[in-house]
Amino acid sequence: MLALTGANGQLGRLVLQSLADRHIKDVRALVRSPDKAADLASDTVTLVEADYDRPETLDAALEGVDRLLLISGSAIGQRTRQHLAVIDAAKKAGVAFIVYTSLINTVSSPMILAQEHEATEAALKASGIAHVILRNGWYVENYAGAVDAALAHGAVVGGSGDGLISAASRKDYAEAAAITLTGDDTSTRIHELGGAPAFTLAELAAEISSQTGRDIPFQNLPQADYAKVLVAAGLPQGFADILADSGAAAANGALYTASTDFEDIIGHPTLSLKAFVSSAVS
Ligand code: NDP
Repeated sequence: MLALTGANGQLGRLVLQSLADRHIKDVRALVRSPDKAADLASDTVTLVEADYDRPETLDAALEGVDRLLLISGSAIGQRTRQHLAVIDAAKKAGVAFIVYTSLINTVSSPMILAQEHEATEAALKASGIAHVILRNGWYVENYAGAVDAALAHGAVVGGSGDGLISAASRKDYAEAAAITLTGDDTSTRIHELGGAPAFTLAELAAEISSQTGRDIPFQNLPQADYAKVLVAAGLPQGFADILADSGAAAANGALYTASTDFEDIIGHPTLSLKAFVSSAVS
């Protein structure tokens, strides 16, 4: 039996689709609120309640599971405790193989966001359970808001300077997760997953300009100023600070990898910048 956490999230839903495309049966979709995810249930997918904050639900949800995809949670600041609860429950349930969605360059990354991933990776290592760490790069969809803002205000605003960003679509990451979860190789390993070719935000701005026939420059801001822009755009201060921290780290390469693991796993190129911008501006 295969199971995945975060099944009702944007990535989880795409993993379920990818598993269905591969005709994988007997999938257990672990969700915080089964009521909110009822549409996920099917002949091949069973919906089970699994709330990271209620470990008793995790024990029951993982009973009989051989392979687990642990999709990192969304509650920043709570995730180490939450992920460790899942790993503990997996150990008790006898799960033999875990695939975890981590963050690109986690161990060397100065990003605040890397800390909880690093702690989770350490817990996986200590668990003794065979595991694959998929160190996911940025979702290219993270820039959908920047494209909208560029169209509205005439500039791409960010804080990552000339930093190259190895971004790819959630669909690409979901495919890599589904393939890794169901593959023959259950050896413990780490893959850095970055989309290729990587791009800078100046290249994003140039692509938007090219596709819209407008002159849209990239405006790089110091970290504190970029955080202020994000707050003015409606983000909570804490999240704006984290994104501005990520941007500053990206300026120094934190979101870039030269690894070709991603394309090797999925067997095709990741979504191009051109295709992403085309969908975002239409
Ligand atoms: P989503 O926010 O769409 O999904 C997160 C899922 O986590 C939701 O289904 C949510 O459940 C579930 N969840 C949150 N808290 C709990 C809990 N206490 N117990 C059980 N489930 C919980 O994120 P994505 O699918 O887009 O991304 C997946 C993960 O990737 C994120 O959670 C985050 O760790 C990471 N991420 C990576 C990014 C990148 O660029 N690489 C960008 C953003 C996030 P519910 O449906 O009930 O709300």
